[in-house]
Amino acid sequence: MTEQPKVVLITGASSGIGEATARRLAADGHRVFLGARRTDRLEKLSDEIRGDGGTAAFRRLDVTSAEDMRSFVAAASAEFGRIDVLVNNAGVMPLSPLESLLVDEWDRMLDVNVRGVLHGIAAALPVMRAQGAGHFVNIASIGAYEVVPTAAVYCATKFAVRAISDGLRQESTGGVRVSVISPGVTESELADTITDPTARDAMTAYRATALPATAIADAIAYAVGQPPEVDVNELVVRPVART
Ligand code: NDP
Repeated sequence: MTEQPKVVLITGASSGIGEATARRLAADGHRVFLGARRTDRLEKLSDEIRGDGGTAAFRRLDVTSAEDMRSFVAAASAEFGRIDVLVNNAGVMPLSPLESLLVDEWDRMLDVNVRGVLHGIAAALPVMRAQGAGHFVNIASIGAYEVVPTAAVYCATKFAVRAISDGLRQESTGGVRVSVISPGVTESELADTITDPTARDAMTAYRATALPATAIADAIAYAVGQPPEVDVNELVVRPVART
């Protein structure tokens, strides 16, 4: 149990890294407010966290809507009285070579992975500024540091998350902290969004060695658990012996 319980909002909490983070932070004593589109999963997860003695609530969230994100942050503030941390975790990864021209999937990655993070910042920053403190934990990827074939657009979205996060950090003078957590291959449902057959087959082999989602949850918990004067800016967490 942490000495400083916080109110932590997590987008994309219905599976994978978001779900593991919700469980880990709730176990640490933080109050978690969970968002995603699959509310059946959020309800089950919240029930399980409460059953284990934690504090959790949820609301349906589509991060591609700025209005929905504002309502999500407002609902968390109403539920718990403040917001300390927003984990911008929701993401999709429908990989494909550019020549496949899956323009709708490019748009979806931009909408969820980039606009979703911006919507989170737009909704939560005024609240954090008014409080005089707050913490954004933005989930990027090793794809924020290197580009590989089939991942041009996905990597572009994650480079963008890093760029936006670093800009936000540099502009933050009012006690607002910014952390970028970049996972390597991690067990989750992320690859299920791939429709291109070539990219899907390549990913099956690539993802054979994967971290458990709890490894990324642990990194997020580390950043969240630092004292107010410490800002963990970037963490990259890969499976051992992976480039
Ligand atoms: P999952 O597919 O398991 O989880 C993705 C989450 O995002 C789900 O909870 C999903 O919920 C949510 N989501 C997707 N679209 C939206 C939307 N429009 N609005 C709200 N929520 C949405 O994958 P991961 O746990 O792996 O992904 C979490 C983050 O980690 C992503 O940003 C991903 O890019 C990043 N990452 C993952 C890696 C990995 O190997 N797993 C490696 C590097 C980075 P729902 O469908 O219910 O809305």
